[in-house]
Amino acid sequence: MLQPREYVLYLRKSKGRAGIARQRRETTKHIEDIGGRIVTEFIDEDTTAYAKPGQHAQRDDYARMLAFLRADQRRAPLGVAAWHTDRLNRSTADADELIALAAAGGHIVETKGAGTYDLSTATGRKRFRQDAVDAAYEVDHMTERIESAKLEAVAEGAWLGGRRPFGFKKDGERHKRTEAAAVDAGTNAVLAGVSVNQVAREWRAAGLTGTSGGELSEVVVRRILLRPRNAGLMVHRGKVVGRARWLPVLCAAEYRPPKGTPLDAETEEAWRTAAEEKHRALVALLTDPARTTTPGPERRWFGSGQYRCGYPLDGGECQRPVRIGTGSGATTGTRPVYRCSGEDRHVVRDAVLLDAHVQERIVARLQRPDAADLLHGDRSDEAPKLRIELAALNGRLNELEEAFTDGDLSREALKRGKEKLRTQVEELEERLAACVSVSALEGLAGEPDAAGRWEELDLHRQRAVLAALLKVTILPAPKGRPKGHRPGGRYFHPEAVRLEWLG
Ligand SMILES: [Zn+2]
Repeated sequence: MLQPREYVLYLRKSKGRAGIARQRRETTKHIEDIGGRIVTEFIDEDTTAYAKPGQHAQRDDYARMLAFLRADQRRAPLGVAAWHTDRLNRSTADADELIALAAAGGHIVETKGAGTYDLSTATGRKRFRQDAVDAAYEVDHMTERIESAKLEAVAEGAWLGGRRPFGFKKDGERHKRTEAAAVDAGTNAVLAGVSVNQVAREWRAAGLTGTSGGELSEVVVRRILLRPRNAGLMVHRGKVVGRARWLPVLCAAEYRPPKGTPLDAETEEAWRTAAEEKHRALVALLTDPARTTTPGPERRWFGSGQYRCGYPLDGGECQRPVRIGTGSGATTGTRPVYRCSGEDRHVVRDAVLLDAHVQERIVARLQRPDAADLLHGDRSDEAPKLRIELAALNGRLNELEEAFTDGDLSREALKRGKEKLRTQVEELEERLAACVSVSALEGLAGEPDAAGRWEELDLHRQRAVLAALLKVTILPAPKGRPKGHRPGGRYFHPEAVRLEWLG
Protein backbone atom coordinates (compact mmCIF):
# COMPACT_ATOMS: atom_id res chain seq x y z
CA MET A 1 0.00 0.00 0.00
CA LEU A 2 1.35 3.36 -1.01
CA GLN A 3 0.34 6.29 1.16
CA PRO A 4 -1.10 8.94 -1.18
CA ARG A 5 0.25 12.49 -1.22
CA GLU A 6 -3.02 14.21 -2.07
CA TYR A 7 -6.30 13.96 -0.20
CA VAL A 8 -9.82 15.21 -0.32
CA LEU A 9 -11.02 16.23 3.13
CA TYR A 10 -14.53 15.33 4.22
CA LEU A 11 -16.01 17.23 7.16
CA ARG A 12 -19.38 16.65 8.72
CA LYS A 13 -20.84 18.38 11.71
CA SER A 14 -23.49 16.70 13.76
CA LYS A 15 -24.70 17.29 17.23
CA GLY A 16 -22.42 16.34 20.07
CA ARG A 17 -19.38 15.85 17.84
CA ALA A 18 -16.41 18.06 17.13
CA GLY A 19 -17.17 21.21 15.13
CA ILE A 20 -16.09 21.72 11.53
CA ALA A 21 -13.18 23.99 12.45
CA ARG A 22 -11.76 21.47 14.87
CA GLN A 23 -12.23 18.57 12.48
CA ARG A 24 -10.49 20.54 9.75
CA ARG A 25 -7.62 21.68 11.96
CA GLU A 26 -6.88 18.30 13.47
CA THR A 27 -7.33 16.28 10.31
CA THR A 28 -5.26 18.64 8.18
CA LYS A 29 -2.47 18.49 10.74
CA HIS A 30 -2.67 14.69 10.79
CA ILE A 31 -2.42 14.53 6.98
CA GLU A 32 0.55 16.92 7.00
CA ASP A 33 2.20 14.84 9.70
CA ILE A 34 2.11 11.80 7.43
CA GLY A 35 3.48 13.81 4.51
CA GLY A 36 0.30 14.51 2.57
CA ARG A 37 -1.73 17.56 1.67
CA ILE A 38 -5.41 18.40 1.25
CA VAL A 39 -6.44 19.40 -2.27
CA THR A 40 -10.10 20.14 -1.67
CA GLU A 41 -12.74 19.73 1.00
CA PHE A 42 -16.39 18.71 1.20
CA ILE A 43 -18.55 19.84 4.10
CA ASP A 44 -21.95 18.67 5.27
CA GLU A 45 -23.64 20.35 8.17
CA ASP A 46 -26.54 18.62 9.85
CA THR A 47 -28.45 21.80 10.43
CA THR A 48 -31.25 21.33 7.97
CA ALA A 49 -33.61 23.68 9.78
CA TYR A 50 -31.12 26.49 9.83
CA ALA A 51 -30.10 27.01 6.25
CA LYS A 52 -28.95 30.52 5.61
CA PRO A 53 -30.85 32.20 2.78
CA GLY A 54 -29.55 31.01 -0.56
CA GLN A 55 -27.77 28.08 1.00
CA HIS A 56 -28.84 24.49 0.67
CA ALA A 57 -28.75 22.67 3.94
CA GLN A 58 -28.98 19.18 2.61
CA ARG A 59 -26.12 16.90 3.36
CA ASP A 60 -25.18 16.53 -0.22
CA ASP A 61 -21.46 17.16 -0.19
CA TYR A 62 -20.89 13.49 0.50
CA ALA A 63 -22.44 12.63 -2.86
CA ARG A 64 -20.41 15.43 -4.45
CA MET A 65 -17.24 14.00 -2.98
CA LEU A 66 -18.00 10.55 -4.39
CA ALA A 67 -18.71 12.09 -7.79
CA PHE A 68 -15.47 14.08 -7.55
CA LEU A 69 -13.46 10.93 -6.80
CA ARG A 70 -15.13 9.06 -9.64
CA ALA A 71 -14.36 11.82 -12.11
CA ASP A 72 -10.80 12.44 -10.96
CA GLN A 73 -8.21 11.63 -13.61
CA ARG A 74 -4.90 12.02 -11.79
CA ARG A 75 -2.43 9.17 -11.97
CA ALA A 76 -2.00 8.63 -8.23
CA PRO A 77 -5.44 8.05 -6.72
CA LEU A 78 -6.54 10.66 -4.19
CA GLY A 79 -6.86 9.69 -0.56
CA VAL A 80 -9.94 10.44 1.51
CA ALA A 81 -9.29 12.18 4.82
CA ALA A 82 -11.71 12.50 7.71
CA TRP A 83 -11.55 13.25 11.39
CA HIS A 84 -13.13 9.96 12.37
CA THR A 85 -14.69 7.00 10.56
CA ASP A 86 -18.13 7.98 11.81
CA ARG A 87 -17.87 11.28 9.92
CA LEU A 88 -17.70 9.35 6.64
CA ASN A 89 -20.41 6.86 7.44
CA ARG A 90 -23.83 8.03 8.29
CA SER A 91 -24.97 4.45 7.64
CA THR A 92 -23.59 1.10 6.60
CA ALA A 93 -25.08 1.77 3.16
CA ASP A 94 -22.83 4.82 2.96
CA ALA A 95 -19.88 2.70 3.98
CA ASP A 96 -20.62 0.18 1.23
CA GLU A 97 -20.82 2.91 -1.37
CA LEU A 98 -17.50 4.38 -0.35
CA ILE A 99 -15.90 0.95 -0.13
CA ALA A 100 -16.95 0.04 -3.67
CA LEU A 101 -15.67 3.31 -5.04
CA ALA A 102 -12.43 3.34 -3.06
CA ALA A 103 -11.65 -0.30 -3.82
CA ALA A 104 -12.15 0.26 -7.55
CA GLY A 105 -10.24 3.53 -7.68
CA GLY A 106 -7.48 2.68 -5.17
CA HIS A 107 -8.43 5.50 -2.80
CA ILE A 108 -6.98 5.13 0.68
CA VAL A 109 -9.10 6.36 3.57
CA GLU A 110 -7.15 8.16 6.26
CA THR A 111 -8.70 9.23 9.57
CA LYS A 112 -7.19 11.06 12.47
CA GLY A 113 -9.19 8.96 14.89
CA ALA A 114 -8.71 5.45 13.55
CA GLY A 115 -5.75 5.60 11.17
CA THR A 116 -5.53 4.22 7.66
CA TYR A 117 -7.97 1.99 5.83
CA ASP A 118 -6.81 0.33 2.63
CA LEU A 119 -10.15 -0.56 1.11
CA SER A 120 -8.56 -2.57 -1.70
CA THR A 121 -7.80 -5.29 0.88
CA ALA A 122 -10.29 -7.58 2.59
CA THR A 123 -8.89 -6.66 6.01
CA GLY A 124 -9.22 -2.96 5.34
CA ARG A 125 -12.79 -3.36 4.18
CA LYS A 126 -13.68 -5.52 7.16
CA ARG A 127 -12.28 -3.06 9.67
CA PHE A 128 -13.91 -0.08 7.92
CA ARG A 129 -17.28 -1.84 7.87
CA GLN A 130 -16.96 -2.85 11.49
CA ASP A 131 -16.18 0.73 12.50
CA ALA A 132 -19.16 1.92 10.49
CA VAL A 133 -21.37 -0.59 12.28
CA ASP A 134 -20.01 0.56 15.63
CA ALA A 135 -20.75 4.17 14.76
CA ALA A 136 -24.27 3.25 13.66
CA TYR A 137 -24.78 1.21 16.83
CA GLU A 138 -24.62 4.26 19.04
CA VAL A 139 -27.48 5.81 17.09
CA ASP A 140 -29.48 2.57 16.74
CA HIS A 141 -29.27 1.93 20.43
CA MET A 142 -30.97 5.23 21.12
CA THR A 143 -33.51 4.63 18.37
CA GLU A 144 -34.39 1.32 19.99
CA ARG A 145 -35.06 2.90 23.37
CA ILE A 146 -37.20 5.53 21.75
CA GLU A 147 -39.00 2.89 19.72
CA SER A 148 -40.05 0.99 22.83
CA ALA A 149 -41.24 4.22 24.42
CA LYS A 150 -43.19 4.87 21.25
CA LEU A 151 -44.84 1.45 21.36
CA GLU A 152 -46.05 2.10 24.87
CA ALA A 153 -47.50 5.37 23.69
CA VAL A 154 -49.14 3.60 20.75
CA ALA A 155 -50.80 1.19 23.15
CA GLU A 156 -52.30 4.17 24.94
CA GLY A 157 -53.34 5.81 21.68
CA ALA A 158 -51.18 8.81 22.48
CA TRP A 159 -49.61 11.09 19.93
CA LEU A 160 -45.99 10.27 19.21
CA GLY A 161 -44.84 13.81 18.72
CA GLY A 162 -43.30 15.66 15.85
CA ARG A 163 -44.43 18.70 13.94
CA ARG A 164 -47.85 20.01 14.93
CA PRO A 165 -50.35 18.27 12.67
CA PHE A 166 -52.71 20.53 10.73
CA GLY A 167 -56.03 20.70 12.56
CA PHE A 168 -54.50 20.02 15.97
CA LYS A 169 -52.80 22.00 18.70
CA LYS A 170 -49.18 21.49 19.70
CA ASP A 171 -50.01 18.53 21.91
CA GLY A 172 -51.22 16.78 18.75
CA GLU A 173 -54.49 15.85 20.46
CA ARG A 174 -56.62 18.91 21.11
CA HIS A 175 -58.29 20.40 18.05
CA LYS A 176 -57.27 23.71 16.61
CA ARG A 177 -60.78 24.80 15.76
CA THR A 178 -60.33 26.82 12.56
CA GLU A 179 -58.09 24.23 10.95
CA ALA A 180 -60.13 21.30 12.23
CA ALA A 181 -63.28 22.81 10.75
CA ALA A 182 -61.44 23.35 7.45
CA VAL A 183 -60.38 19.68 7.34
CA ASP A 184 -63.94 18.49 7.94
CA ALA A 185 -65.42 20.91 5.42
CA GLY A 186 -62.69 20.13 2.87
CA THR A 187 -63.37 16.40 3.23
CA ASN A 188 -67.08 16.99 2.68
CA ALA A 189 -66.33 19.12 -0.37
CA VAL A 190 -64.10 16.52 -2.00
CA LEU A 191 -66.66 13.79 -1.30
CA ALA A 192 -69.18 16.03 -3.01
CA GLY A 193 -67.02 16.21 -6.13
CA VAL A 194 -65.04 19.43 -5.55
CA SER A 195 -61.39 19.12 -6.61
CA VAL A 196 -58.63 19.12 -4.01
CA ASN A 197 -57.11 21.98 -5.93
CA GLN A 198 -60.26 24.03 -5.36
CA VAL A 199 -60.22 23.19 -1.65
CA ALA A 200 -56.60 24.30 -1.48
CA ARG A 201 -57.49 27.59 -3.15
CA GLU A 202 -60.27 28.18 -0.65
CA TRP A 203 -58.03 27.42 2.32
CA ARG A 204 -55.43 29.84 1.05
CA ALA A 205 -58.08 32.47 0.42
CA ALA A 206 -59.20 31.98 4.03
CA GLY A 207 -55.65 32.80 5.13
CA LEU A 208 -54.75 29.30 6.30
CA THR A 209 -51.14 28.13 6.05
CA GLY A 210 -49.26 24.93 6.81
CA THR A 211 -48.28 24.42 10.43
CA SER A 212 -44.77 25.74 9.76
CA GLY A 213 -46.16 28.64 7.78
CA GLY A 214 -45.71 27.01 4.38
CA GLU A 215 -48.15 27.45 1.53
CA LEU A 216 -51.04 25.02 1.33
CA SER A 217 -50.50 23.64 -2.15
CA GLU A 218 -52.78 21.07 -3.67
CA VAL A 219 -50.30 18.31 -2.81
CA VAL A 220 -50.12 19.40 0.82
CA VAL A 221 -53.88 19.73 1.22
CA ARG A 222 -54.41 16.32 -0.31
CA ARG A 223 -51.93 14.85 2.14
CA ILE A 224 -53.68 16.59 5.04
CA LEU A 225 -57.11 15.36 3.98
CA LEU A 226 -55.91 11.78 3.66
CA ARG A 227 -54.55 11.59 7.21
CA PRO A 228 -56.16 8.84 9.30
CA ARG A 229 -55.63 11.06 12.35
CA ASN A 230 -58.49 13.25 11.10
CA ALA A 231 -60.77 10.32 11.90
CA GLY A 232 -59.19 9.84 15.33
CA LEU A 233 -57.10 6.95 14.10
CA MET A 234 -53.56 6.21 15.13
CA VAL A 235 -50.84 5.51 12.59
CA HIS A 236 -47.62 3.77 13.47
CA ARG A 237 -44.99 2.80 10.92
CA GLY A 238 -47.30 3.77 8.11
CA LYS A 239 -50.22 1.60 9.25
CA VAL A 240 -53.40 2.41 11.10
CA VAL A 241 -52.99 0.63 14.44
CA GLY A 242 -56.23 1.57 16.12
CA ARG A 243 -58.19 4.39 17.65
CA ALA A 244 -56.26 7.28 19.11
CA ARG A 245 -56.85 9.11 22.35
CA TRP A 246 -57.79 12.27 20.47
CA LEU A 247 -61.21 12.86 19.00
CA PRO A 248 -61.83 12.98 15.24
CA VAL A 249 -61.91 16.36 13.56
CA LEU A 250 -64.21 14.80 10.99
CA CYS A 251 -67.90 15.01 11.89
CA ALA A 252 -67.07 17.24 14.85
CA ALA A 253 -69.76 19.70 13.79
CA GLU A 254 -72.41 17.00 14.19
CA TYR A 255 -71.23 15.31 17.35
CA ARG A 256 -69.19 17.69 19.50
CA PRO A 257 -71.21 18.48 22.62
CA PRO A 258 -71.83 22.12 23.49
CA LYS A 259 -69.22 23.78 25.71
CA GLY A 260 -69.44 22.61 29.29
CA THR A 261 -71.31 19.43 28.43
CA PRO A 262 -69.32 16.23 28.81
CA LEU A 263 -69.07 13.79 25.91
CA ASP A 264 -70.87 10.56 26.77
CA ALA A 265 -69.59 7.20 25.62
CA GLU A 266 -72.47 6.54 23.27
CA THR A 267 -72.04 9.85 21.42
CA GLU A 268 -68.29 9.33 21.23
CA GLU A 269 -68.77 5.91 19.66
CA ALA A 270 -71.21 7.29 17.09
CA TRP A 271 -68.83 10.18 16.35
CA ARG A 272 -65.83 7.92 15.83
CA THR A 273 -67.77 5.50 13.66
CA ALA A 274 -69.11 8.28 11.43
CA ALA A 275 -65.65 9.84 11.14
CA GLU A 276 -64.02 6.53 10.23
CA GLU A 277 -66.60 5.94 7.53
CA LYS A 278 -66.10 9.38 6.10
CA HIS A 279 -62.33 8.89 6.10
CA ARG A 280 -62.59 5.54 4.33
CA ALA A 281 -64.82 7.08 1.66
CA LEU A 282 -62.33 9.87 1.07
CA VAL A 283 -59.38 7.49 0.80
CA ALA A 284 -61.30 5.34 -1.67
CA LEU A 285 -62.16 8.39 -3.74
CA LEU A 286 -58.75 10.06 -3.75
CA THR A 287 -56.70 6.94 -4.30
CA ASP A 288 -58.92 5.41 -6.96
CA PRO A 289 -56.61 5.00 -9.96
CA ALA A 290 -59.56 5.18 -12.33
CA ARG A 291 -60.41 8.63 -11.07
CA THR A 292 -59.68 11.11 -13.81
CA THR A 293 -57.93 14.24 -12.77
CA THR A 294 -57.69 17.29 -14.96
CA PRO A 295 -54.34 18.77 -14.05
CA GLY A 296 -53.14 21.96 -15.68
CA PRO A 297 -50.38 21.92 -18.29
CA GLU A 298 -47.67 22.42 -15.66
CA ARG A 299 -48.76 19.54 -13.53
CA ARG A 300 -48.97 16.97 -16.27
CA TRP A 301 -45.28 16.48 -15.84
CA PHE A 302 -43.59 14.62 -13.05
CA GLY A 303 -40.56 16.87 -12.63
CA SER A 304 -41.78 20.35 -13.57
CA GLY A 305 -41.17 22.78 -10.76
CA GLN A 306 -39.29 20.08 -8.85
CA TYR A 307 -36.15 19.31 -10.83
CA ARG A 308 -33.52 22.02 -10.53
CA CYS A 309 -31.10 23.66 -12.91
CA GLY A 310 -27.49 22.74 -12.16
CA TYR A 311 -25.85 25.31 -14.43
CA PRO A 312 -22.73 26.71 -12.72
CA LEU A 313 -23.40 30.26 -11.58
CA ASP A 314 -21.57 32.62 -9.20
CA GLY A 315 -19.47 29.84 -7.75
CA GLY A 316 -22.58 27.74 -7.10
CA GLU A 317 -25.43 26.53 -9.20
CA CYS A 318 -28.45 28.23 -10.71
CA GLN A 319 -30.88 25.95 -8.80
CA ARG A 320 -33.96 27.46 -10.42
CA PRO A 321 -36.79 24.98 -10.91
CA VAL A 322 -37.32 23.70 -14.43
CA ARG A 323 -40.49 24.09 -16.49
CA ILE A 324 -41.89 21.95 -19.22
CA GLY A 325 -41.64 23.19 -22.79
CA THR A 326 -41.14 21.99 -26.31
CA GLY A 327 -37.69 21.29 -27.65
CA SER A 328 -36.47 23.17 -30.66
CA GLY A 329 -32.88 22.17 -31.19
CA ALA A 330 -31.31 19.27 -33.04
CA THR A 331 -30.87 17.40 -29.78
CA THR A 332 -34.45 17.39 -28.64
CA GLY A 333 -36.51 17.95 -31.80
CA THR A 334 -40.03 18.97 -30.89
CA ARG A 335 -40.36 16.62 -27.96
CA PRO A 336 -41.30 17.86 -24.51
CA VAL A 337 -38.31 19.09 -22.57
CA TYR A 338 -37.52 20.39 -19.11
CA ARG A 339 -35.88 23.76 -19.27
CA CYS A 340 -34.36 26.06 -16.66
CA SER A 341 -37.05 28.60 -15.77
CA GLY A 342 -34.56 31.46 -15.78
CA GLU A 343 -34.32 33.81 -18.74
CA ASP A 344 -31.11 32.22 -19.94
CA ARG A 345 -32.66 28.73 -20.11
CA HIS A 346 -29.40 27.18 -18.99
CA VAL A 347 -30.30 23.52 -19.29
CA VAL A 348 -32.68 21.62 -21.55
CA ARG A 349 -33.42 17.90 -21.21
CA ASP A 350 -35.73 15.40 -22.86
CA ALA A 351 -38.60 15.15 -20.38
CA VAL A 352 -39.76 11.62 -21.15
CA LEU A 353 -36.30 10.10 -20.93
CA LEU A 354 -35.36 12.00 -17.78
CA ASP A 355 -38.60 11.07 -16.00
CA ALA A 356 -38.11 7.42 -16.91
CA HIS A 357 -34.58 7.54 -15.53
CA VAL A 358 -35.59 9.21 -12.25
CA GLN A 359 -38.63 6.99 -11.70
CA GLU A 360 -36.57 3.87 -12.28
CA ARG A 361 -34.19 4.96 -9.54
CA ILE A 362 -37.04 5.82 -7.16
CA VAL A 363 -38.71 2.44 -7.60
CA ALA A 364 -35.37 0.69 -7.07
CA ARG A 365 -34.87 2.66 -3.86
CA LEU A 366 -38.39 1.89 -2.63
CA GLN A 367 -37.84 -1.82 -3.21
CA ARG A 368 -34.63 -1.99 -1.23
CA PRO A 369 -35.05 -4.02 1.97
CA ASP A 370 -34.18 -0.99 4.10
CA ALA A 371 -36.70 1.27 2.33
CA ALA A 372 -39.19 0.93 5.19
CA ASP A 373 -36.71 3.01 7.20
CA LEU A 374 -37.63 5.94 4.99
CA LEU A 375 -40.96 6.02 6.77
CA HIS A 376 -39.70 6.81 10.20
CA GLY A 377 -37.91 10.00 9.56
CA ASP A 378 -35.04 8.56 11.53
CA ARG A 379 -32.93 8.53 8.42
CA SER A 380 -31.13 11.44 9.92
CA ASP A 381 -28.96 10.35 12.78
CA GLU A 382 -29.94 13.62 14.37
CA ALA A 383 -33.60 12.74 14.93
CA PRO A 384 -33.21 10.21 17.78
CA LYS A 385 -30.89 12.53 19.64
CA LEU A 386 -33.28 15.43 19.18
CA ARG A 387 -36.15 13.34 20.55
CA ILE A 388 -34.18 12.49 23.66
CA GLU A 389 -33.32 16.13 24.20
CA LEU A 390 -36.93 17.06 23.71
CA ALA A 391 -38.12 14.51 26.25
CA ALA A 392 -35.54 15.82 28.72
CA LEU A 393 -36.66 19.42 28.25
CA ASN A 394 -40.30 18.47 28.72
CA GLY A 395 -39.29 16.64 31.89
CA ARG A 396 -37.63 19.80 33.17
CA LEU A 397 -40.76 21.80 32.41
CA ASN A 398 -42.75 19.38 34.56
CA GLU A 399 -40.18 19.59 37.35
CA LEU A 400 -40.47 23.37 37.36
CA GLU A 401 -44.24 23.12 37.67
CA GLU A 402 -43.87 20.68 40.54
CA ALA A 403 -41.34 22.87 42.31
CA PHE A 404 -43.76 25.76 42.03
CA THR A 405 -46.66 23.66 43.32
CA ASP A 406 -44.51 22.53 46.27
CA GLY A 407 -43.70 26.14 47.10
CA ASP A 408 -40.00 25.79 46.25
CA LEU A 409 -40.19 28.30 43.44
CA SER A 410 -41.62 31.78 43.08
CA ARG A 411 -44.18 32.51 40.37
CA GLU A 412 -41.68 34.89 38.78
CA ALA A 413 -38.95 32.24 38.67
CA LEU A 414 -41.39 29.71 37.26
CA LYS A 415 -42.37 32.08 34.49
CA ARG A 416 -38.76 32.88 33.58
CA GLY A 417 -37.74 29.23 33.63
CA LYS A 418 -40.68 28.16 31.51
CA GLU A 419 -40.07 30.82 28.89
CA LYS A 420 -36.49 29.78 28.49
CA LEU A 421 -37.31 26.09 28.19
CA ARG A 422 -40.22 26.69 25.81
CA THR A 423 -37.94 28.51 23.38
CA GLN A 424 -35.60 25.55 23.41
CA VAL A 425 -38.46 23.11 22.97
CA GLU A 426 -39.78 25.01 19.98
CA GLU A 427 -36.36 25.17 18.45
CA LEU A 428 -35.92 21.41 18.82
CA GLU A 429 -39.36 20.70 17.43
CA GLU A 430 -38.56 22.68 14.33
CA ARG A 431 -35.38 20.75 13.77
CA LEU A 432 -37.16 17.46 14.30
CA ALA A 433 -39.84 18.42 11.82
CA ALA A 434 -37.16 18.95 9.24
CA CYS A 435 -35.96 15.38 9.75
CA VAL A 436 -39.39 13.92 9.15
CA SER A 437 -41.13 13.72 5.85
CA VAL A 438 -43.12 10.54 5.68
CA SER A 439 -46.69 10.51 4.53
CA ALA A 440 -45.97 10.50 0.81
CA LEU A 441 -44.20 7.19 1.27
CA GLU A 442 -46.87 5.36 3.21
CA GLY A 443 -47.82 2.11 1.54
CA LEU A 444 -44.88 2.34 -0.83
CA ALA A 445 -41.54 2.18 0.91
CA GLY A 446 -40.44 -1.36 1.65
CA GLU A 447 -43.34 -2.89 -0.29
CA PRO A 448 -42.12 -5.77 -2.45
CA ASP A 449 -44.47 -4.58 -5.18
CA ALA A 450 -43.35 -0.97 -5.02
CA ALA A 451 -42.97 -0.95 -8.81
CA GLY A 452 -46.58 -2.01 -9.36
CA ARG A 453 -47.88 0.39 -6.77
CA TRP A 454 -45.84 3.21 -8.24
CA GLU A 455 -47.52 2.66 -11.61
CA GLU A 456 -50.93 2.93 -9.97
CA LEU A 457 -50.26 6.20 -8.20
CA ASP A 458 -51.64 9.32 -9.71
CA LEU A 459 -49.27 12.05 -10.70
CA HIS A 460 -49.86 14.11 -7.58
CA ARG A 461 -48.82 11.31 -5.31
CA GLN A 462 -45.83 10.48 -7.49
CA ARG A 463 -44.74 14.09 -7.31
CA ALA A 464 -45.15 14.06 -3.54
CA VAL A 465 -42.93 10.98 -3.31
CA LEU A 466 -40.35 12.69 -5.49
CA ALA A 467 -40.43 15.74 -3.23
CA ALA A 468 -39.98 13.60 -0.13
CA LEU A 469 -37.21 11.40 -1.48
CA LEU A 470 -35.04 12.96 -4.04
CA LYS A 471 -33.49 16.16 -5.25
CA VAL A 472 -32.87 16.07 -8.99
CA THR A 473 -30.48 18.54 -10.56
CA ILE A 474 -30.07 18.73 -14.31
CA LEU A 475 -26.43 19.43 -15.12
CA PRO A 476 -25.22 20.86 -18.41
CA ALA A 477 -25.05 17.98 -20.90
CA PRO A 478 -21.67 16.84 -22.17
CA LYS A 479 -20.92 17.54 -25.81
CA GLY A 480 -21.43 14.78 -28.33
CA ARG A 481 -23.71 11.82 -28.51
CA PRO A 482 -23.37 8.57 -26.66
CA LYS A 483 -21.88 5.54 -28.37
CA GLY A 484 -24.33 3.60 -30.50
CA HIS A 485 -26.55 6.60 -31.08
CA ARG A 486 -28.57 6.48 -34.27
CA PRO A 487 -29.30 9.71 -36.13
CA GLY A 488 -32.77 10.93 -35.30
CA GLY A 489 -33.02 8.69 -32.22
CA ARG A 490 -33.34 10.06 -28.71
CA TYR A 491 -30.40 10.06 -26.42
CA PHE A 492 -29.80 10.80 -22.84
CA HIS A 493 -26.74 11.26 -20.62
CA PRO A 494 -27.51 9.80 -17.20
CA GLU A 495 -24.28 11.29 -15.84
CA ALA A 496 -25.56 14.78 -16.60
CA VAL A 497 -28.23 14.44 -13.92
CA ARG A 498 -27.44 14.57 -10.21
CA LEU A 499 -29.73 12.59 -7.94
CA GLU A 500 -29.44 13.30 -4.23
CA TRP A 501 -31.44 11.32 -1.74
CA LEU A 502 -32.91 13.52 0.94
CA GLY A 503 -32.66 12.87 4.62
ZN1 LIG B 1 -30.62 27.84 -14.67
